[in-house]
Amino acid sequence: MRVTVVGAGLAGLAAARALESSGHTVLVIEARDRVGGRVWSQQLDGGVWFERGAEFIEDGQTAVHRLADELGIRLLPTGMSYSDREPRDSAGTVARSDVLAGVEVLRNSARTGTVAEALERAALPGRVRRAIAARLRVSFAQDPARLAVDVLRHHAASFSGREAYRCEGGNQQLALRTAAELTGQILLRRPVESIAWTRDDVRVRWHGGEAASDACVVAVPAAVWRRIDFEPDLPSWKADVLDRIEYSHTAKIAEPLGSRPDPSAVLSVDHAYWTWTATRGGPSAEPAVHAFVGSSEAVRALEVVDGPDLWLTALQDLRPELTVDRRRAVLSTWDDDQWALGAYSTGLSGEGVAAAQAPVGPVHFAGEHTAGDWFALMQGAIRSGRRAADDMRSAA
Ligand SMILES: Cc1cc2nc3c(=O)[nH]c(=O)nc-3n(C[C@H](O)[C@H](O)[C@H](O)COP(=O)(O)OP(=O)(O)OC[C@H]3O[C@@H](n4cnc5c(N)ncnc54)[C@H](O)[C@@H]3O)c2cc1C
Repeated sequence: MRVTVVGAGLAGLAAARALESSGHTVLVIEARDRVGGRVWSQQLDGGVWFERGAEFIEDGQTAVHRLADELGIRLLPTGMSYSDREPRDSAGTVARSDVLAGVEVLRNSARTGTVAEALERAALPGRVRRAIAARLRVSFAQDPARLAVDVLRHHAASFSGREAYRCEGGNQQLALRTAAELTGQILLRRPVESIAWTRDDVRVRWHGGEAASDACVVAVPAAVWRRIDFEPDLPSWKADVLDRIEYSHTAKIAEPLGSRPDPSAVLSVDHAYWTWTATRGGPSAEPAVHAFVGSSEAVRALEVVDGPDLWLTALQDLRPELTVDRRRAVLSTWDDDQWALGAYSTGLSGEGVAAAQAPVGPVHFAGEHTAGDWFALMQGAIRSGRRAADDMRSAA
């Protein structure tokens, strides 16, 4: 088959790779001037890498580990854990053992409703409850009042303390090297405007060009699917589920430091963001502190829209042990990115997942938002691309 893949994020590239490996001819069309989508690595002065999007790779992300291995990319230990953050509030540090015990209570008692309701019901000290709420708010970038308790089983709700990894040369290497290995063309700076299909073929059109193929994979975030005209229209069961997918709001910051600190992970309970210093395989951390704030409310409270100043002041208060160089801070947001319009999806229930994944004629769908239990992760994006390729192979 000839297959056109729309979107060169990890999902689209994983689909293209899987399809090529089973002998199909692939063309990838991407709106941006680069591959990787929400995986975008930049090197700052002094050599520190800033991951503007996806950063941490944990043990359970086996599809990422396998892809990195196949592409010859080394995964470098960070010396810290994504899932184990020291919670600090205005009264000091909340004990890790209390937080872990509180999470156990929550996991054993909560079956239905929202995380906020479950926390309300749980007999936990107020500081522990707030620390857990802040941790989940940050990781899912959603108000706990809008998070279903199911998220307690999601990978990002782990409190395991296992070390996290990042790719040597930046996580975008996963996309760059996949792209370099493809034999089919990747056309950049070509926002797809329409996808029309008949019994004979699929026509993918962008300003000034068109590609005809036998099938197509749409691997763009659900938040931007309506920028593409489908002919015929997508059926209502498909359009409805894509419209229903919500995206969270986050911001990230990196600030170079004058010295190399120890690896660390600290959560601000009061402001719902976390900060880390991390190694790239060596004994001490890179000379930079990073931070991530999750949920619209928390992003708004730190006035990120006006720049990083207020956040930097809060960060210096939270981490007096680090001397922050405010002038060299860099900030990253995704809600204002026209090809994403948000950071990551907030997940779907079982039936929603099936509808998000289901093809419509020769048009297949991939992307982290279709990945079921692995939503909001690189692992989900890669798995979704492979799943779309498998579906296409079995339909052919
Ligand atoms: C701030 C942030 C932090 C994150 N942290 C982590 C983390 O620590 N660990 C982790 O595993 N994951 C993390 N993630 C999630 C991870 O980045 C995503 O799950 C994954 O990269 C999504 O890949 P995708 O291919 O589904 O979508 P995308 O990467 O968004 O790719 C979709 C592509 O489609 C293109 N596109 C859109 N519209 C069109 C169009 N009309 N025509 C052509 N092309 C189009 C886009 O430009 C983009 O390149 C994070 C994400 C963000 C934003």
